[in-house]
Amino acid sequence: MKLQPGELILTAPKKGLPPKHLVDYSLAERKAAFAEAGIPAYRADQVSRHWFGHLSDDSTEWTDIPDATASDIKEKFLPNLLTPVRNLDCDNGTTVKTVWRLHDGSLVESVLMRYPERITMCISSQAGCGMNCPFCATGQGGLTRNLSSAEIVEQVLAGARALKRGEVAGGEGRVSNVVFMGMGEPLANYERTLGAIRRLVQPNPEGLGISTRSITVSTVGLVPKILQLAKEGMQLRLAVSLHAPDDELRDTLVPINTRHKVKDVLNAAWTYAEATGRRVSIEYALIKDINDQAWRADLLGQMLAGKLVHVNLIPLNPTPGSIWTASNPRDEKEFVRRLESHGVTVTVRDTRGREIDGACGQLAAVEK
Ligand code: SAH
Repeated sequence: MKLQPGELILTAPKKGLPPKHLVDYSLAERKAAFAEAGIPAYRADQVSRHWFGHLSDDSTEWTDIPDATASDIKEKFLPNLLTPVRNLDCDNGTTVKTVWRLHDGSLVESVLMRYPERITMCISSQAGCGMNCPFCATGQGGLTRNLSSAEIVEQVLAGARALKRGEVAGGEGRVSNVVFMGMGEPLANYERTLGAIRRLVQPNPEGLGISTRSITVSTVGLVPKILQLAKEGMQLRLAVSLHAPDDELRDTLVPINTRHKVKDVLNAAWTYAEATGRRVSIEYALIKDINDQAWRADLLGQMLAGKLVHVNLIPLNPTPGSIWTASNPRDEKEFVRRLESHGVTVTVRDTRGREIDGACGQLAAVEK
């Protein structure tokens, strides 16, 4: 479903969500659902240990569960949610993008990025996106639907399994970080995103046991949802895709700005920082001659000075049909210098995955 310029889809269609999966249930709910389905509740514990603890999705390895019971559990609680369509890698195999087909034929993508000191899974929260940012490939295809919590978590689990099996260059490893920076607007799919996060952070065998502080939720700036997230009492890292310090430009780059203005987005971010004690990241894709002027750097610096904040500059990644390009290195350097002169810390994000259309804003989930 193609969007007109500036058009937004705030509520995803209800259709297309997959059947409920083990991962959608808390441990207590799993036990109750198993009992209801005529399977002893302790089997829920056992499967959970395999699924989350040993990262085993292969029932032939579940030696404590008889075959017939395992088949029953698979049929009732483990519908196949993600089918790999293809894997693309670069950086000598340490960056791997996977295109997944969902049960209804929708496609989404996830990206595994291995660094010396961490392994990050960048995951999708929706099939497509309704936010229509003109420089982002995902936005150009419109929104198909929300992902279920299990569909979100399974992207991380798929990476975790591949790492455990030593299939990723660099040998065995564990997912240490998760970023909701793949396809979709996570806060537009709030409940399922939060459900997924709970599962990611709960200890084995209920969940995957990833540290809350290592999970980043990136948002286009849905103010009421940022404020809601601030009240969850979770120390998640929040990233806000700002891209412009002034409403005039941001209205065109991030169309939701016509509803939630820069000032309100930043105020929500400060509320979040105060509630959680966590430094908020401001994401700013540097686009040549569009948002990279020195005066915009100064304006941004003034707006952020003294706050619990960090700026992540992203050199614009190319997307099909886009007329825009990344800033000149000289302008980028000057932008950094000006922000820093206001006492704001800045990093320039690497362009990991660019060669495989796996970098920020390039996830379009096409089959070929
Ligand atoms: N919807 C969420 C999650 C997507 S995160 C959000 O907007 O934050 C992806 C990040 O990459 C966002 O900051 C997005 O604005 C940025 N981005 C999108 N297209 C890009 C491009 N072509 N080059 C660089 N960054 C881009």
